[in-house]
Amino acid sequence: MRAVVYAGYGVTPALTEVADPACPADGVIIAVGATGVCRSDWHAWQGHEPVALPHIGGHELAGVVTATGPSVTGWQVGDRVTVPFACGCGRCEYCLAGQAQVCPQQTQPGFTGPGSFAELVAIHAADANLVSLPASVDFVTAASLGCRFATAFRAVTAHGRVRAGDWLAVHGCGGVGL
Ligand SMILES: [Zn+2]
Ligand SMILES: [Zn+2]
Repeated sequence: MRAVVYAGYGVTPALTEVADPACPADGVIIAVGATGVCRSDWHAWQGHEPVALPHIGGHELAGVVTATGPSVTGWQVGDRVTVPFACGCGRCEYCLAGQAQVCPQQTQPGFTGPGSFAELVAIHAADANLVSLPASVDFVTAASLGCRFATAFRAVTAHGRVRAGDWLAVHGCGGVGL
């Protein structure tokens, strides 16, 4: 497959032919339909978060399932899906309590493994992490939901508990703030 690969921190990424990803036993392979570019990708590229080099970034994705591992029960080839930024293991106490974003065994495409700046990306623990896309939500729209939208939505609804009539100040208008 083709992927955007960087050989070292800060080195200009290059469109490169690489081996297709192997499908995890509990995961899927997704043919990427759209992928966002996030400040977090820049941090990984700059070496602020260690990644295995050479590396393929990208964690804001949507696409179509092209392969499923033998232990996946909820998804089939052809399903249109998106995923959260932090993919929980689906089995630990944090995941079972709905706190997959702090799962100690979490995987993150584009950080703990190759990401979505590629034709194909592997996602682990598919039954716990994949989100089905209705036909009315296109891939570009969906790719913007898993990282920036979900982060802001949870901050406002779960942590800030903002209710109708409350005032909210947003400091910083990046992807999450906007
Ligand atoms: Zn992001
Ligand atoms: Zn977990």
